[in-house]
Amino acid sequence: MRIDVLTIFPEFFSVLDVSLLGKARQAELVQANVHDLRTWAAMKADGTPDIHRTVDDAPFGGGAGMVMKADVWGRALDDVLQPGGVLVIPSPAGVPFTQALAADLARADQIAFACGRYEGIDARVAEHYDAVGFRVLELSLGDYVLNGGEVAAFAMIEAITRLIPGFMGNAESIVEESHADGLLEYPSYTRPASWRGLDVPDVLLSGHHGKIESWRREQQLERTRIRRPDLFADPREGVAQ
Ligand code: SAM
Repeated sequence: MRIDVLTIFPEFFSVLDVSLLGKARQAELVQANVHDLRTWAAMKADGTPDIHRTVDDAPFGGGAGMVMKADVWGRALDDVLQPGGVLVIPSPAGVPFTQALAADLARADQIAFACGRYEGIDARVAEHYDAVGFRVLELSLGDYVLNGGEVAAFAMIEAITRLIPGFMGNAESIVEESHADGLLEYPSYTRPASWRGLDVPDVLLSGHHGKIESWRREQQLERTRIRRPDLFADPREGVAQ
């Protein structure tokens, strides 16, 4: 998979070199390119030079903050997006990013992440690339507002790339995880069996696989009911009622 990140803060993405994602890059399972958006801001929309490399301007209609310019984003994305590539625009006003979407995106040949700042990116950018045939997804990490798209893009990159076949050392670990089947994962324990007066549930020490499996299933259902009742009603997660 090829990943392209466009940002005015490329230094955020030094984290791409560490951990499993760093290894996947070395093994060439994932090719990640980080681009400084200001590279494409050397000229203004009228073709004259812009020594300030401006990427934002005041919003039409007035209001607080600045909006990222469509002409700069257009030049950048024209250069970076490959035929068949997916354009992801992180946005708190987007549709929720879910495990199901991560699994879907793990099959893409290229994903370009357009990291907004300020009040976000001129809305015509998403509209244009959709109109010319790219798959465009405006995705929210959650119901809160970050300062920029970088943290959101990195979270999505990590969630997507770990689902690429061959990425995880133990492929089974992603089958039983939270959200894999629409439920939260059961609680996990390791040695010592007794710690600060707290004992591991007896069933986990019983060696009885059938009983352990049913206990874990009950725990999944109970945790999900208590913490995330919305998942039972959410068709995106595919949970039977
Ligand atoms: N004015 C925008 C709004 O109210 O929808 C918020 C802009 S936010 C300050 C700046 C950038 O941070 C956004 O363009 C987006 O890239 C990113 N961002 C903020 N919160 C996000 C979230 N929950 N999910 C994904 N991206 C987010």
